Amino acid sequence: MTVIKTPTSTTAPLASSKGTVQIAGAGPAGLAAAITLARAGRAVVVHEAKSGVGHRFQGDLQGLENWSGKQDVLETLRRQGITTEFDRFPGVKGTAFDAWGKAYKVQSQKPLFYTVERGPGLGTLDTALLNQAQNLGVEVRFNSHLRQLKGDGILAAGPQAVDAMAVGFHFETDMENGFWVICDNNLAPKGYAYLLTMNGIGTVKSCMFSDFKQQHVYVQRTVAAFEKRVGLRMRNPRPHGGIGNFRIPVSALHGQHPIVGEQAGFQDTLWGFGMRHAITSGVLAAQSLLNGHDYNQQWRGALSKQLLASVVNRIFYRNIPNLGYRWFLRYATQQEDVREFLHRFYTFSLFKRLSLPWLNPFYKSRYNELHCEHKTCICVQCRCEESIA
Ligand SMILES: Cc1cc2nc3c(=O)[nH]c(=O)nc-3n(C[C@H](O)[C@H](O)[C@H](O)COP(=O)(O)OP(=O)(O)OC[C@H]3O[C@@H](n4cnc5c(N)ncnc54)[C@H](O)[C@@H]3O)c2cc1C
Repeated sequence: MTVIKTPTSTTAPLASSKGTVQIAGAGPAGLAAAITLARAGRAVVVHEAKSGVGHRFQGDLQGLENWSGKQDVLETLRRQGITTEFDRFPGVKGTAFDAWGKAYKVQSQKPLFYTVERGPGLGTLDTALLNQAQNLGVEVRFNSHLRQLKGDGILAAGPQAVDAMAVGFHFETDMENGFWVICDNNLAPKGYAYLLTMNGIGTVKSCMFSDFKQQHVYVQRTVAAFEKRVGLRMRNPRPHGGIGNFRIPVSALHGQHPIVGEQAGFQDTLWGFGMRHAITSGVLAAQSLLNGHDYNQQWRGALSKQLLASVVNRIFYRNIPNLGYRWFLRYATQQEDVREFLHRFYTFSLFKRLSLPWLNPFYKSRYNELHCEHKTCICVQCRCEESIA
C-alpha cells in the first residue's frame, strides 16, 4: 500500500480559467465536483461511459457512514452544498453475529449510517445527485467514454483494481427495514457478510477481501446463514456484485487533473465505505479548480488521517481469526454508544501513528500505480507508458 510518509506536494496551484470543466465519470465523486463547480457559475460537462448513473449498482443498498465525523453526514452534505433529497433509512439499531451465531445488539443514539439506494432509479443517491447537477445547468453526456481529458478537468472514473469484492443478491422482501452483519471468515474471508433492507427491497452480500475465486461458495453460505439467523426472505433475487479499490495515493493529481473518489483510491480500507470520501474529494477538487488551492493539500487535510487509521484497522482486522472478531464484537457492543466507539476507532491515535510504520509493509493495494511523470498527461486512465514505448 502506498501511504503518505511526508507531505510531498510540490505541485503548483491549479490554474483556474473560465473554460468548460470536463469530468470523467458520473458517480458520487464526479457529480459532487460538478455540482460544486456549477454552483460557482462554471460551465461543466460530465462524461459518463454508461447509459445512466449508478450503472454498476442497479438498486444496491449501501450505508452512507456517519461515524467518521462528529457532525451528522447529512448536515455535512448540506454544508458542502450537496443534496440530501434521496430516500434513506437511519441505522440506529441492528444486530451483529459472530461465527458461532451469538448475537450482539449494535445501537447508537445517532445513526451509525444511513441506508441509501444506488443506481438509476427514483429516490436513489445517484438520481438525486444527477438531478441537482442538471438543475444547476451541468451537461451530463451518457454513453460517453472519455479516454483523454484536455483543459480543466477532473478524473472520477471509479475503481481501478480489486482490493475487495462484495457479491450476493438484490431482492424484494416483506422484511422490516434494518441491518444485520456476520463476522465470520467462512462466509466472507477477512471481511464481513451483511444484509440491508429498506422499503421493501434488500441486499445480501459477502464482502470478501481474499479468496475471490470461491465467491459462489461464500455467497451460498452467507444466504444460508442469514436465512437461519434472521429469517431472510427474498423474492425475485437478482445476483449482484462489485469491486472496491483502496489506497492512499502519493499524489491525487494526474498531470494537472485532480483525481477524486475511488479512482484515487479514496475509500475506507477496513470495511469499504467509499461514498462519503467520494463526495468530499469531489467537492475539494472542484474548490481547488475554483480558487487555485493545492488539491493534494486539501484532500490530505480532510481525508488522510481517517484513511491512515483505516489502513491500521484493516491490518489488525484481517489478521485476527474468528475468535478475534468475537472479541471485537463483544467489546464494541459493550460500549455505551457504538457510533462513539467507531468514531474513536477511526481516529488516527498516537498508537496508530506509532504502529503504522511497522505495519505498513504488511498491506499493499492491488493497484499498480501507473504514475507517469508527464505534467501534461491527458489520459483518463494512464496509458502513457504504452505510448512512450
Ligand atoms: C457492492 C458494493 C457495495 C458497496 N457498499 C458501500 C457502502 O455500503 N457504503 C459506502 O460508503 N460505499 C460502498 N461501496 C463503495 C462505493 O460504492 C464507492 O466507493 C463509490 O461509489 C465511489 O464513487 P466514485 O464516484 O468514485 O466511483 P463510481 O461510483 O464507480 O463512479 C464512477 C463512474 O465513472 C464512469 N466511468 C468510468 N470510466 C469512465 C470514462 N473513461 N469516461 C466516462 N465515464 C467513466 C463509470 O461508469 C461510473 O459510473 C460499495 C461498493 C460496492 C461495489
